[in-house]
Amino acid sequence: MTDSIVPKPSGAIPDRSLYERRESGVRSYARAMPRQFGKAEGVWMHDTQGGRYLDFLSGCSTLNYGHNHPILKQALLDYIAADGIAHGLDLHTDAKEDFLATFEDVILRPRELDYRAMFTGPTGTNAVEAAIKLARKVTGREMVIAFTNGFHGMTLGALACTGNAAKRGGAGVPLSHVSHEPYDGYYGPDVDTADLLAQRLSDPSSGLDAPAAILVETVQGEGGLNAASPEWLRAIARIARAHGALLIVDDIQAGCGRTGGFFSFEGMGFTPDIVTMAKSLSGMGLPFALTLFRPELDQWSPGEHNGTFRGNNHAFVTSAAALRHFWSGGAFQADVARRAALLEDRLQAIAAEYGFEVRGRGMMRGVNVGSGELAASVTAACFAEGLIIETSGAHDEVIKVLAPLVIDDAVLATGLDILETKIREAMTTDYAVAAE
Ligand SMILES: *Cc1c(COP(=O)(O)O)cnc(C)c1O
Repeated sequence: MTDSIVPKPSGAIPDRSLYERRESGVRSYARAMPRQFGKAEGVWMHDTQGGRYLDFLSGCSTLNYGHNHPILKQALLDYIAADGIAHGLDLHTDAKEDFLATFEDVILRPRELDYRAMFTGPTGTNAVEAAIKLARKVTGREMVIAFTNGFHGMTLGALACTGNAAKRGGAGVPLSHVSHEPYDGYYGPDVDTADLLAQRLSDPSSGLDAPAAILVETVQGEGGLNAASPEWLRAIARIARAHGALLIVDDIQAGCGRTGGFFSFEGMGFTPDIVTMAKSLSGMGLPFALTLFRPELDQWSPGEHNGTFRGNNHAFVTSAAALRHFWSGGAFQADVARRAALLEDRLQAIAAEYGFEVRGRGMMRGVNVGSGELAASVTAACFAEGLIIETSGAHDEVIKVLAPLVIDDAVLATGLDILETKIREAMTTDYAVAAE
């Protein structure tokens, strides 16, 4: 029997009183998707009332290989069944050795990259903190250049590099030693913002101090799926080198195949000094972050930066399994590229009908519908049809499609049909009133 590929949302909203009574008001996604989820496999999430949801959010690109991929799951089950080390601080373990050896063989060597791996605390913001701390230590400089609409995490150092005012407002202290420069395209297509940065850094009277690092996302995940051009990124890399700053690419969301290659900067003609990874790195949604840097930059003394959960052994196991399964050979990458082209075609057709704009690259794509209210009413209507999809951007005006990279073409089309229908319905009703 073949299941229908149309999602089946469930009806009544379950009782939320426990969450309202006991869980902090800081919760956010649960408000827009008020269901209780019990199981997930592949591209599907199931609520406890028999509803089935197609996941176009993928844990913000943490589940690029889908939920509970059978090969990753089996590797972890086998490891646990054999009493493999679950926690070992930063001790050498079989799981760590296998991860490092696989990462070297499958990722670094074929790309002719020479990076050392630093296992930081388990979330993305930990990898960013380590990256900027190392850049400041190595250069002896304080200032970091980040970009408008950049998102780098919630701890103070990474938050200082983040643009969003609502997130920054939570800091409670001044966020300092970061200058936010205009990202590619910030002033429209006619202004080359890399030239502006070069000019300011070369002018001894511009007021911009010599930076320790330039921190950039090649596609801004939370900031509205702005994709920098390869030329602009190469220019930024040149500027960093010319001014003695380290180039940090934050690949936490755009990496692990989301934009095509394992790294989002592959084939662009530059090599970052430091790269941060997290989100889909474990392949199964387990917390796991990594800061990569050129070996000469490895000037840490033992324990100078650490974290109890640095090197999550269960994540080493699933990550190594994912690297072997998806990244040895080029078949997966070719399949993602083909599927990304289908996605782009569909989104371009939708955008053309209403004068919207398609943003992003690879399987990290979205539609800028021009208003946060419209985007919110569309995503809410999609959820009611069983499609989990979110927004991004300065005004949450970009509907972003972060489907698992392994999604079946027909299922992808089904989700996009729902999105297209809900956009059409919103455009033919007064969405501003509907969103009230
Ligand atoms: C999600 C994200 C982070 C922060 O990662 P956490 O695991 O939430 O701490 C940092 N940078 C980018 C680009 C991200 O998308």
